[in-house]
Amino acid sequence: MRENKVNTLITNSPLEAAQILLRGGLVIFPTETVYGIGASAFDEKACRKIYEVKNRPSDNPLILHVENIASLNACGEVDERAALVFRKFSPGPITGIFKKRNQHLFTAGLNTVAVRIPSNSTAREFLEACGVPVAAPSANVSGKPSLTKLEYILEEFSGKVDCILQGDDPRIGIESTVIDFTAEPPILLRPGFVDRKDLLLILPDLRGLESLSESAATAAPRSPGLKYRHYAPACKVVLKDSLKNAPKDAAQIGFETEFGSVFAISVSSNEEYMRLLYSFFVECDRRNIAEAWCQIPKEESGKEALLNRIQKAASK
Ligand code: AMP
Ligand code: MG
Repeated sequence: MRENKVNTLITNSPLEAAQILLRGGLVIFPTETVYGIGASAFDEKACRKIYEVKNRPSDNPLILHVENIASLNACGEVDERAALVFRKFSPGPITGIFKKRNQHLFTAGLNTVAVRIPSNSTAREFLEACGVPVAAPSANVSGKPSLTKLEYILEEFSGKVDCILQGDDPRIGIESTVIDFTAEPPILLRPGFVDRKDLLLILPDLRGLESLSESAATAAPRSPGLKYRHYAPACKVVLKDSLKNAPKDAAQIGFETEFGSVFAISVSSNEEYMRLLYSFFVECDRRNIAEAWCQIPKEESGKEALLNRIQKAASK
């Protein structure tokens, strides 16, 4: 954690936020996935501050955020296949890992770079005003759930970052889908809102981590972040077919929540489930709930991403 309290400017001006970032400051901004905590990717000192504020392990690299495909191409070596994927799903919740083209970018010592083009309009105006790639992992303390509401950001990060840029709260709610294009064939490193079945239409040979041996799956530098426990509230998280037998003092999220539970969030689709999952976790912690029951997602897009996040939260 950064020791000295800093003055946090709260603004809805992307231009003002960009000026702070370009002077070496840390700026929290909304994206369509979750809030990000950003620094100029050309400013190693500022990037290292992100690790301090998040208490992030120093070998876990950051995703760079850029405003368009030309900037993406300037960061990494984007081949035709990756360009097809980005033309279809960007701007949006998809991240590619590429061979690093610009050696001045901060990548925590790797020769690869992770890049995405967010679609949130505030994020886009901010990135355009910055004019440099913005290194931004999710705005949360490492190990805790990513944050999806301004209210939570203000509570957790006021006095710790230089600026908080206000805009629309994330509408997707979980982190981007990550594909490693440096592998042959490419590997789906992290499932997300962009679903595997839609990716397979463009990348028929896309592999999942489950297709690799355990040693290959955790080998550096594939995705250093994968080895860390993520996204977890303090309470015990359980994944269940049905919420029927949940104890009354357990919180619940799912399609058939039980009447009378201390805290329940009812959803009607996997999309809504993704949008609300992390705020459900945050609220469980705020209410000191001991156990959170999560219902298995529906057989539709988003199931793999939801299971991935819930299972990580459930693994103590
Ligand atoms: P976050 O920004 O919190 O959503 O986490 C970023 C994820 O992308 C982490 O799992 C990182 O380990 C992963 N990542 C970032 N850069 C790279 C890279 N160059 N190679 C592999 N994985 C990366
Ligand atoms: Mg994160």
